[in-house]
Amino acid sequence: MKREEKLEILSNLIAIDTVNDNEAKVADYISSLFAPYKNKGVSIDRVSYSPGRDNLVVTIGDSKKTLGFTGHEDVVSTGDLDSWDSDPFKAEIRNNKIYGRGASDMKSGLAAIIITMLEMLENDAVPGRIKLLATVGEETGEYGAAQLTKKGYADDLSGLIIAEPTEEMQNLIYTGKGVIDYVVTSVGKGAHSSTPEKGINAIDHLIDFADEVRKLMATFDKVDPVLGKLTHVQSVFQGGEQTNSVPDKAIIKGNIRSIPAYNNQMIFDAINDLIARLNKKPGYDLKIEYVYPEEAVPGNPNSDFVKLLKNSYQTVYSKELSVAGQAGASDASEFLHAKNDFDIVIVGPGNDTMHQSNENCDVDVFLKSVDFYKQAAFDFFK
Ligand SMILES: [Zn+2]
Repeated sequence: MKREEKLEILSNLIAIDTVNDNEAKVADYISSLFAPYKNKGVSIDRVSYSPGRDNLVVTIGDSKKTLGFTGHEDVVSTGDLDSWDSDPFKAEIRNNKIYGRGASDMKSGLAAIIITMLEMLENDAVPGRIKLLATVGEETGEYGAAQLTKKGYADDLSGLIIAEPTEEMQNLIYTGKGVIDYVVTSVGKGAHSSTPEKGINAIDHLIDFADEVRKLMATFDKVDPVLGKLTHVQSVFQGGEQTNSVPDKAIIKGNIRSIPAYNNQMIFDAINDLIARLNKKPGYDLKIEYVYPEEAVPGNPNSDFVKLLKNSYQTVYSKELSVAGQAGASDASEFLHAKNDFDIVIVGPGNDTMHQSNENCDVDVFLKSVDFYKQAAFDFFK
């Protein structure tokens, strides 16, 4: 495929506004790219999450083992349009960088794995069974990956590469922190502040929870050699309406970043116990909700899969690929729930301009990433 065609695929993906919605249009576009190869054993499965939001699974080749490539179709909002130098949904190349929403996170990675597979088909050189998993809703809860995993689409994988940005292909991420967002609501009873004994102060009770949960989370003190410690931030506190009323409702939100030593259930159990203990006190009425919790991703920097990818990298780039962990969540947290155990790694084009204005990706890095993914696939089936 010509350089211009590759950049056109990326530009076309950027042009589809998939801010937390509309992934079906990306699924349509990817389907159209693979349609000419239907007689070459390409199978296309569309898995709808909700109207307008479709995951897409494209499988090519044939072999006992299956290699997975995955990328999400959604992007985050543009933020203030005035802070962009060009239209976020009209890709523009300046100084050999391609600009647009998703240029880094992660239409470039998605385009690269699509192109990798298209070129294999074009050249009749598909080395084995390869599966593309394009997901919805990664940015707002990884529910596309969760749906595909639940339906068994990841069960046949022997290795999975997530093409999320890793400092323009400089790193390979093999382990990651999990995420738990919680919302605790305290319900009390309103009263005039001159007669507080007639009310129940929701804020007082919530402060007790805030205090205790901080101490509780500090007891999860194991240190992961790569990811460090579990972290806990109480980030939102709301309650009360006017100074002369006893508040009848208060809310706290918190964010926990877990490490593989603690699975999410251990953390839920500890916090739920705390809530139950506080609710035994007179007048306490606390309720907790966990929003899209994601498990930490364990990994082994010396696994066969990581070693193989380091070799492929050496072949393509003539230098060593460094391996690392990351604090952010990805679709990996969902795919690890598949029936079989397999390595999940993240390596892709794009950089830390993701989620910002003037998001961009180095054009040469993008184009060369295709060579890497192709080499990785050939080495995988060798
Ligand atoms: Zn992403």
